[in-house]
Amino acid sequence: MRYAVLSDVHSNLEAFEAVLADINRRNIRDILFLGDAVGYGPDPNECIDLLTASCGAPIAGNHDWGAIGLMDVAFFNEYARSAIEWTSGVMTKKNKDVLRTFPLKVEYEDKDALAVHATPKEPGAWHYLFSLLDADTNFEYFDNKLCFLGHSHKPFIIEKQLSGGLMTYKDNTRIKKRSRYIINAGSVGQPRDGDPRACYVLVNGGEVNMIRIPYDIESVQNKMRKAHLPSALIERLSRGM
Ligand code: ZN
Repeated sequence: MRYAVLSDVHSNLEAFEAVLADINRRNIRDILFLGDAVGYGPDPNECIDLLTASCGAPIAGNHDWGAIGLMDVAFFNEYARSAIEWTSGVMTKKNKDVLRTFPLKVEYEDKDALAVHATPKEPGAWHYLFSLLDADTNFEYFDNKLCFLGHSHKPFIIEKQLSGGLMTYKDNTRIKKRSRYIINAGSVGQPRDGDPRACYVLVNGGEVNMIRIPYDIESVQNKMRKAHLPSALIERLSRGM
């Protein structure tokens, strides 16, 4: 079974197109999306159009909810808030209605996998899963072999062995028969692990790989400047932080 898992596109069309081109080159048609289609970047409508054309059952992230008024953006930091207000102002009604149809989680029986944006324990509370302790708790809240999530923009793979032991992997691992996994797919449109290249997950048979794809960052930054989006958001794309 071969499929790709994408998260946190954040209205970054250049990164999204570069990732889809790579997936296409590998002849993969099965693409899961883990939320945050919009927010931060300059092309929310174009990204939603491309998302609905390419991914099967997208789920919602906190920025998607912010853009359609399902969550109070007072909880966002000032840059995220000003970007989400801009996003909400330029999004078409049709695309807002599309975002409203995205659920908070999707179970893929064929893949024995759960997809959420934040955590399996409370997908709509938008907590971050950073520590092994958080991971250990969250393994209790799903039965599937794999749980894919995003939200922190920092890719990782955590394995829970039958013995209860936890192992972490950065870039890839081979799926073991008796283990279960929480896999953070990183971010397509705003990586924060120090590598500015777009990130996505490729599942190829029993192997999981983080794939990094360069894209035209300057072009996105120019569009963001024209849209008067916050300079901190523009600059962070070059640093991948
Ligand atoms: Zn995000």
